[in-house]
Amino acid sequence: MFELPATGGCRCGRFRFSFDSKPFVAYTCHCRECRKLTGSAFLTCMHIPAESLTLLKGDPACDLRQTDSGNSLITYFCNRCGGNMYAKNSARPFVVTLHVGSLDKPEKVEVNAHIWLKQKLSWVEIPDGHRRFDESGDWLEDYKDDPSKYGE
Ligand SMILES: [Zn+2]
Ligand SMILES: [Zn+2]
Repeated sequence: MFELPATGGCRCGRFRFSFDSKPFVAYTCHCRECRKLTGSAFLTCMHIPAESLTLLKGDPACDLRQTDSGNSLITYFCNRCGGNMYAKNSARPFVVTLHVGSLDKPEKVEVNAHIWLKQKLSWVEIPDGHRRFDESGDWLEDYKDDPSKYGE
């Protein structure tokens, strides 16, 4: 069971955050950009309401880029250890995309969807029953409790 408030931070501890809302959706992104960002095979993240995130310690650095769909994506990371922790997308101003690996208890998050499968590395296997999207995900059903947060 997901316990709130939940906490997280970067590897070195310079940056810490907490949040007090359960995620709308949690998924793994297999796109090339997420590989470059993490230096790993994919990025697992989750959407929470932006107002539920509290910065406890530190002042993260940011990386701004334009996505293929024309939105601005800002990723926040620690400027000492390089750990990336969350992102904001101009298409969803009411939501923060938290990187699940930065949580103190990532095992509490249920992840059951995968996006950008057309760029997935061939040896990554998707569990049966998980939702699959070749490109970006459709999360409208995950926002049914508060559709106003979904954005465009
Ligand atoms: Zn750090
Ligand atoms: Zn991605």
